[in-house]
Amino acid sequence: MAVTAPSLESFKLDEETTMNEKPNFANLNVAALAGGVGGARLAQGLAAILPPERLHIIVNTGDDFEHLGLTICPDLDTVMYTLSGLANPKTGWGIAGDTFTCLEAIQRRGGPGWFNLGDRDLATHILRTQWLHEGQRLTEVTARLATALGVPCALLPMCDTPYQTQVITAAGTLPFQEYFVHQRCRPEVRAFRWEGADVAQPTPEVMAALEQADLVIFCPSNPFVSIAPILNLPGVKEAISRRASVAVSPILGGEAVKGPAAKMFRELGIAPSAVAVAERYAGLLTGFVLDSVDAGLAPAVAALGMATCVMPTLMPGLDERIAVARGVLEFAVAPR
Ligand code: GDP
Ligand code: CA
Repeated sequence: MAVTAPSLESFKLDEETTMNEKPNFANLNVAALAGGVGGARLAQGLAAILPPERLHIIVNTGDDFEHLGLTICPDLDTVMYTLSGLANPKTGWGIAGDTFTCLEAIQRRGGPGWFNLGDRDLATHILRTQWLHEGQRLTEVTARLATALGVPCALLPMCDTPYQTQVITAAGTLPFQEYFVHQRCRPEVRAFRWEGADVAQPTPEVMAALEQADLVIFCPSNPFVSIAPILNLPGVKEAISRRASVAVSPILGGEAVKGPAAKMFRELGIAPSAVAVAERYAGLLTGFVLDSVDAGLAPAVAALGMATCVMPTLMPGLDERIAVARGVLEFAVAPR
C-alpha cells in the first residue's frame, strides 16, 4: 500500500479527468534535494516548468572543502552553473569555455593541480570566501552569487556550518574531495562519517522550504554522499515524512550514469539497483521513479510501500530534463 500524501491532495486530478486535460503546476510548491550532476540535471528541468518562487533546491554541502585558502562548494556550483546555463556539459563540473591560466601558474610555482579550478570558476570561490569572511552565511552568499548569475529559483545550501563527508576506506579515512578527485574513487569504501554533524543544523530557509512544499523531490543523486547528508540533518526526515515525496533513481540497469554510486553499493555489500536505492528511502517516500530499463523492478519497489512510475530517466540534454521533470510532477499528482 502506498503511503498517503496529504500535502498534495488539492493538486490531485480526479479519476474522471480526461487524458488530454493537463495538470497545472503553477501553484505547486516543490522542494528538491540535490547533489551535483544528477541533481542539477533534474533541477534544470523543474526550473523550466515551475514558477521560480515555488521551486527551492536544497543542495548537499558535504562535499565542501577548503583548498588554497578558498571555500569550494562543488555541488552548489554544479547546480548554480547548470541553472544559469554556464555549465560545461562535457565535464559536468565547471564553466563552459573556462580557461586554466591561474591553475597552470599555481602548478608552475609548485602548488597543487589535482583539483581543477578554471579562471572564471575561481571568481566564484574568491567572492564566496571573501563574503564568508565578512560574516555572511553560506545561504546569503549563495543567493548573491546565484542571483548575479541569473539562477531563477532559490538555491539553498543544506546548512551554513561545515558538514564534511569523510569516506572510510581500506586506505584510511579520507575527506570527500581527497577520495573523489585526488584518489579518483579508487579506495574501497567501508563506511561514511560526517565531520561537524554534532553541531550542524538545517538552515531556517531549508526547513521553511520543506514545510511549505506540497511535494519533495529527491533528484537522482548519490544516495550515500549527496542525499544522506541532507537527510541526516536534525528534523529534515521528520519534515519530509509530513509531505508527499518522490525520488528518481540514480541507478539504471544496475549502474550509475556517472560517478561512484554503484561502486559504493557493491563495496558496501549491496547489489546496486533501483530497488537498493528505494530500500534506503523506504518509510519516507510516497513515490519512486524507475528508469524504463528497470521496469521489471517496479513490483519490488512497490512492495516497499511506495507508488511507482516507470519512464525514461536519462537526461543528457535540456529536452530530456524537462520531460523527466514533467513526468515526475504528473506522477506525483496522479490519482491513486
Ligand atoms: P555528484 O555530486 O556530481 O556526484 O552528483 P549527484 O549526487 O547529484 O549525482 C550523481 C548521480 O546522478 C549518479 O549516481 C548518476 O547515476 C546520477 N545521474 C547522473 N545523470 C543522470 C541522468 O541523466 N539520469 C538519472 N536517472 N541519473 C543520473
Ligand atoms: Ca557531489
